[in-house]
Amino acid sequence: MHVCVIGAGVVGLATAYSLQQAGHQVTVVDRAAQAAAGASGGNGAQLSYAYVQPLAEPGIWKQLPKLLLAADSPLKFRLQADPQQWSWGLQFLGACNATTSAASTQALLNLAAESRQVFEAMLARESLDCDHHTPGKLVLYPTQAALDSAARQVALQAQLGGPAQQVVDAAAVARLEPALGHYAPRMAGAIYTPSESAVDCRKLCEQLARLLAQRGARFCYFTTVEGYEVQGGTITALHSNQGRITADHFVLASGWESAAQARRLGLHVPVYPLKGYSITVDAAHTPAAAPRISVTDTTRKVVFARIGERLRVAGMVEIVGRNQQIDASKIASLQQSTREVFPDLPLGAEVQPWTGMRPATPTGLPITGRKQGGPANLWLQTGHGALGLTLAFGSAQRLAQQMEKV
Ligand SMILES: Cc1cc2nc3c(=O)[nH]c(=O)nc-3n(C[C@H](O)[C@H](O)[C@H](O)COP(=O)(O)OP(=O)(O)OC[C@H]3O[C@@H](n4cnc5c(N)ncnc54)[C@H](O)[C@@H]3O)c2cc1C
Repeated sequence: MHVCVIGAGVVGLATAYSLQQAGHQVTVVDRAAQAAAGASGGNGAQLSYAYVQPLAEPGIWKQLPKLLLAADSPLKFRLQADPQQWSWGLQFLGACNATTSAASTQALLNLAAESRQVFEAMLARESLDCDHHTPGKLVLYPTQAALDSAARQVALQAQLGGPAQQVVDAAAVARLEPALGHYAPRMAGAIYTPSESAVDCRKLCEQLARLLAQRGARFCYFTTVEGYEVQGGTITALHSNQGRITADHFVLASGWESAAQARRLGLHVPVYPLKGYSITVDAAHTPAAAPRISVTDTTRKVVFARIGERLRVAGMVEIVGRNQQIDASKIASLQQSTREVFPDLPLGAEVQPWTGMRPATPTGLPITGRKQGGPANLWLQTGHGALGLTLAFGSAQRLAQQMEKV
């Protein structure tokens, strides 16, 4: 079969890889000049197999006033004249309950474990230069109460079959990660997960695209999908600024823009952009000042991951519509967090500011498969939210398996 994948982000490329492995002919379409032009380009770099708890969790109700009103809040909401935002927001609040959150956590843990297996098997098969490593992760908590609450989540996840995790005190944090030596006295402790990995998502996408093309996949860059030709309940072609593109099946993997694409086909797909930011700091000359272990600072809601000789620092969740401009104050805030947590790491003038849009569903669960009422040969592969890098390969395998059945 000939399958056309719309979107050359990590989710589209992982899917294209699985489909090619299954013997299909693949065309990848993207409006950008190269792979990873969207959210996959500068994300937090963490393969977060153990930390899958969705944003929609019951505790959000208590934190909401502070999160929404505090000037330095990592969560920002700006009401738009946009029914998509209102509908998404209401569904999100509806998902902030213990039952939905636990069910989503279980489903995400399963998908993450599957994803890890598929991804690591692929890495063992192919030789991709993408700074993949397994340094473990420390999630830092400022107070004993916060650490105790995290320990309860660890116990819950252990029951659900999640990876091994340990509760460690501040002194152990400094021993495990000497670069946190200055900061350790300001925390109660951390959850340490030795099995967590990190990878440069942009490099991974570039390498996957190269591999796919070498094996016969066709890449159509500078190609914006503008519409669909549908006959008898089947898509016969895409309409793009470069002309018609035909295929037997079409996979919609356009990140946060999948919702608008689906609307062209009369379908409602509850995916909304959650804007975030990152900076990338050169640590080549001061390797000991940057952490080896991935770190999440829950006080600042910022994640740090070492990728090669660089440190990726990412954070912020903004529900502010579709504006993709970089807000300089957010970059300054990430720089400030980096200075506080890793004071020995010099931040040069070049910190590579970046912004991206997480393609989020209200529950945090991605959408993989056909949509009821939609064209028979349209496959959704979207809504991976804050975990697209982590979940891409599991979702890709699931979609390829579903397609095998047609
Ligand atoms: C700040 C931040 C930190 C993050 N950290 C992590 C992390 O540490 N770990 C993790 O697992 N996840 C993380 N994520 C989430 C992850 O980056 C995303 O879930 C993932 O990149 C989504 O991949 P995607 O392929 O679905 O979308 P994208 O990467 O956005 O790709 C979509 C592609 O579709 C193309 N496209 C869109 N519309 C059209 C059209 N009409 N025609 C043609 N092409 C089109 C775009 O050009 C784009 O290339 C983070 C995200 C952000 C923003």
